[in-house]
Amino acid sequence: MKIPAKMRTFCRNCNKHTPHNVKIEKAKQRGGGMNQGSRRAERWTSRIGNHGRYSRRPIASRNMTTKTTKKVDLRLTCGECGKKWSRSRPRSKRVELIRR
Ligand SMILES: [Zn+2]
Repeated sequence: MKIPAKMRTFCRNCNKHTPHNVKIEKAKQRGGGMNQGSRRAERWTSRIGNHGRYSRRPIASRNMTTKTTKKVDLRLTCGECGKKWSRSRPRSKRVELIRR
């Protein structure tokens, strides 16, 4: 997917169409390994047996096919007032900014 590095779009702060600079935000890491879910799982498995909880794979991984694309996280910066916000775009495998 090709996205223009500069686009003219509506700015809520200026209340009109202004030129915006576009940046693609890098994906952030989720959790730190020990989130609430894994702490709870550790408590469950520390007792005797697992209460039949982990004998099957979770529903999410049984039903869902793994996705091959990612949503693009665009950050727009207003060229007039400098206000920033994000705009999500449809899923795509590869993203590139095109400069003119
Ligand atoms: Zn603005």
